[in-house]
Amino acid sequence: MADSSKPRVVVIGLDGATWTLLNPLLAQNKLPTLGTLIQNGSRAVLRSCIQPSSEQAWSAFATGKQNGKFGLYGFYQRAKNSYALEYINASQRRAATLWRILSDRQKKCIVVNVPLTYPVEPVCGALVSGLMTPGLHSQFTYPPELKKELLRELGEYIIDVDIERGESDVSSLGDLAERVQRMSELQTRAFEYLLEKNPDWDFAMLVHRAPDILCHKFWRYQDPTHPLYNAREAQQWGNVISDAFQYLDALNARILERVSDENTTIIVLSDHGFGALTHAVYLNLYFAQRGILAYRQQQANPIASALRAGVTRLNNPVVGAVKQKMFEAFPHLKSNLHYSMAYGNIDWSRTQAYAIGTMGNVYLNVRGREPNGIVEMQDYEATRDRVISAMRELCNPETNQPIFDFVYRREEIYNGDALDKAPDVVGLIDGPYHIAAVDWRGADGTKSVVEKLGSQLLFVSDTSGQHRMDGILIASGAGIVPNASDATHRTMTQSPNLIDLAPTILQLLGEPIPDDMDGRVVSGLLADKWTVEYAAATTFENRMDGEYSEAEEKEIEERLAGLGYLG
Ligand SMILES: [Zn+2]
Repeated sequence: MADSSKPRVVVIGLDGATWTLLNPLLAQNKLPTLGTLIQNGSRAVLRSCIQPSSEQAWSAFATGKQNGKFGLYGFYQRAKNSYALEYINASQRRAATLWRILSDRQKKCIVVNVPLTYPVEPVCGALVSGLMTPGLHSQFTYPPELKKELLRELGEYIIDVDIERGESDVSSLGDLAERVQRMSELQTRAFEYLLEKNPDWDFAMLVHRAPDILCHKFWRYQDPTHPLYNAREAQQWGNVISDAFQYLDALNARILERVSDENTTIIVLSDHGFGALTHAVYLNLYFAQRGILAYRQQQANPIASALRAGVTRLNNPVVGAVKQKMFEAFPHLKSNLHYSMAYGNIDWSRTQAYAIGTMGNVYLNVRGREPNGIVEMQDYEATRDRVISAMRELCNPETNQPIFDFVYRREEIYNGDALDKAPDVVGLIDGPYHIAAVDWRGADGTKSVVEKLGSQLLFVSDTSGQHRMDGILIASGAGIVPNASDATHRTMTQSPNLIDLAPTILQLLGEPIPDDMDGRVVSGLLADKWTVEYAAATTFENRMDGEYSEAEEKEIEERLAGLGYLG
């Protein structure tokens, strides 16, 4: 070891972990590693960013900034001033990551499986990219030769687990749970290998994706209040999520055994929490009912309707095959597919606003900005107010409770160079709803805006968990005040936010904090022996190679569809 007295920080991400699932396991002493960290350190509720989705949330963590500065608003987002949708990757993030800042200061970083780190960027140390990496054939490591080395060392590697869209049958559920566990084991071994190989590391981070994947797929089996719960299935699958937290706890024990010493701070966190998903919300249909959006009379897109017919009639594994046939027959379909499915039937000449994605992002259709915009600039605020009122009035008819917890004008929550790419209106859902941009229900029959999972909802019927704003934060070891949190683990640390972690980690490493970070050092969590030091903002320079190929986009799309991230 080069210098045994230097401060070091290790971060373990539990993507999607929530206290509501962890607390009962902690109470039964089923998570000894986390339990010990909490006992010796502090814990808090960690608020996610808006929207609380993995690609944005890990970007908020990595940059210490809100979306208006890092410039991403969804897994796929609207290309600027156009209706076209594009899948994002790390090269579109417009702000420096923690590992970029540290690398530029010659601090050694080991970064494994953080979502949205592909294409890989050069770091001082090693990086293995995570979610949104097309596949094992991609150049998913820095340095490049590390890929071969890892495959040789581990025998195999899994970046992400492919999940079929549609209703999973029982045997595929078992396979899925096993494969997720295998993935966690391999990624932990990769992390251990890199720690061993780079004993002089300063910052090391591993993200376990297992909780996110499994909570999306298995929530209904462990939640007796879920509409799709049944006791027989619960017996078989009800423990999959809690088992995963336990094997991750054992994997984390292995890591911490390796890294713990008096100079090391250990941080465990999630990028967002989780809860039940019970209803799909057809927001564009609602806009149509409110006169904000208009559909064409005729089905405008034969491909979309053929695909929809195939999806409605056929079950799960066939969906991929139907799509494949479509792509072969219409080679140019691919890049427009999602657009066609979601918006092919919208009459732009009579549409003032429309929703995109699965969470509540809404764009106005502005003349001179959108290709077929109709909202005059002088009517922008009045139209936006009307859209906001409509969204605030949208309720679940079963409970009469609002669907959106908050509805914001974009400038109320975002600021920075990328504000102009942001949705004009941002609806935040912190409850059991999923916005469905694509209406898979076909043209016939009565359609309700808010529909309970089950019956006809093939595309979301096998995801039964949804993200929540409240994630977890545990900190222990060097520089951390023990018991900084009270019983509710919220008030003492003043509800830290994801964007506070990057400045907090820089502070722990004794490094100046770029003054354009939006986050602040988490108050109350750190021993007060340091004063905070700021550095001038660094100009961001993109050192990644750009875009996905068509084949890569298709891989990404299949994977996101399996998690219910495509509307
Ligand atoms: Zn996540």
